[in-house]
Amino acid sequence: MKTIGLIGGMSWESTVTYYEKINELVNHSLGGLHSAKIVLTSVDFSIIEECQKNNEWERSADILTQEALKLEKIGVDFILICTNTMHKNFDQIQARISIPILHIAEATIEKLQEEKISHVGLLGTKYTMEQDFYKKRIIDANIQVLIPQSKEIEVVNDVIFDELVFGEIKPKSKDMYLKIINHLIDRGAEGIILGCTEIGLLIKQEDVTIPIFDTTLIHSEKAVERALN
Ligand code: GLU
Repeated sequence: MKTIGLIGGMSWESTVTYYEKINELVNHSLGGLHSAKIVLTSVDFSIIEECQKNNEWERSADILTQEALKLEKIGVDFILICTNTMHKNFDQIQARISIPILHIAEATIEKLQEEKISHVGLLGTKYTMEQDFYKKRIIDANIQVLIPQSKEIEVVNDVIFDELVFGEIKPKSKDMYLKIINHLIDRGAEGIILGCTEIGLLIKQEDVTIPIFDTTLIHSEKAVERALN
């Protein structure tokens, strides 16, 4: 079994899901007392959020590269960056290490293609929804991406940063998210990407009438496939 390196803490609430899910899946495949070989490094999210807010993406790339280099030195076989938003720094980090990073959007695209989705709604932080670094990969795979209207983008983003990263799950926020998802369905979405690693804490498949693509779960599944291959 290969050793998985996780760069977590963005936020730690969703890193917990990664740790649990990866172990569950390895145990499910191998049975008995088997569990995953993981090395976790976890950053101070406050600093990362400051970089996002102040547009200091070079600074965040440096911080995350240091974490990736630590994992490489310890000897992990490949790395997951446990957040969608910080894939903004994917290319800079990957260029400075020699082991692979498993891209969260690429993992999700494979799933979208398996499910033959041609129009997908995207929920995430405002950086993920509005900027190109994430959406472009999906569009390049010939899948149309629908994002919420600008007021809805604020709502989705605020719920992430004011509630979900603190582990707060509020029924009112869930209702607001479901309304926004329904608007995306009305506009032609055949599936919804939960493109922020905390959204799965709030929205589950049973809440939604079309397939949801929970990036935390998909990323974890792809990691386990690779670790056991
Ligand atoms: N975990 C979130 C994501 O997947 C948001 C936190 C962050 O800004 O990194 O994008």
